[in-house]
Amino acid sequence: MSFDLTGKVAVVTGGSRGIGRSVVETFIRQGAAVRYCHAGDAARAADLDGAMSEVGGDCRGRECDVSDETAVQAFFDAVRDEFPFVDILVNCAGIGGDQPFGTITVADWDRMIGVHLRGTFLATRQVFDGMVARGYGRIINFSSQLAYKGGPHLAHYCAAKAGIVGFTRALSYEGAPHGVLVNAIAPGPVETELLMALSDGWRSMKKAQLPIGRFGQPGEIAPAVLLLASEAGSYFVGQTLSPNGGDVML
Ligand code: NAP
Repeated sequence: MSFDLTGKVAVVTGGSRGIGRSVVETFIRQGAAVRYCHAGDAARAADLDGAMSEVGGDCRGRECDVSDETAVQAFFDAVRDEFPFVDILVNCAGIGGDQPFGTITVADWDRMIGVHLRGTFLATRQVFDGMVARGYGRIINFSSQLAYKGGPHLAHYCAAKAGIVGFTRALSYEGAPHGVLVNAIAPGPVETELLMALSDGWRSMKKAQLPIGRFGQPGEIAPAVLLLASEAGSYFVGQTLSPNGGDVML
């Protein structure tokens, strides 16, 4: 069974830093052409594009707010201008922020659900029918171990991430008969800017809960994404893999 992605076209949302960047780098190393989007940090994207180009990779980022239907349409139109089809979609874009429930405004709620759940829906609908028609596709959605476990001051985040598990399971019924495998990843706490933006108290509490006694690194999550994206993952359907340091044991 192969982890090789030579000849594959992959789209990664939220690919400019953190876990998404590690996924982009991994896919490039495995031979895929990668197009990714980010929320607006063009310097970081240019740095990644340059680094990937130096190793001979076909990689380009573009700004696109995944919660904005028009922007998502434009992003995928640009991908379709270059490639006749997309083989792999990784819905990784995300935002964090811990807030006691009473301080979560309707705008906060809509933003959290918008980026994670609506964003996953909007990007997926850009590729799903084409994958079904072609009889091949891999879609990997980013949930979190907090979808199962919950966590204080993260009601909006946990709701969005639990929704992504349900979305993944439901869509896998429609995709799998046509060779389109839809799965998810539910990482534990990983040392990225998203985690560092949470309060010191929250992070200390979380680290104390981890059997492995430390936070993860982005490079410890990307291999699970590669498994689901490659031929090696050909029998995974509707699953949520959990590289999580033992935070949740399923
Ligand atoms: P991160 O380091 O903060 O990176 C977030 C990425 O998403 C960046 O590329 C950012 O672009 C992009 N992004 C943010 N909002 C966006 C939007 N509206 N539209 C498009 N792109 C957007 O985050 P991370 O920790 O790697 O998290 C990646 C995924 O894993 C998220 O879905 C997160 O919820 C999930 N996750 C993370 C952890 C963790 O502990 N880190 C644990 C479980 C699950 P810019 O650079 O332009 O801002």
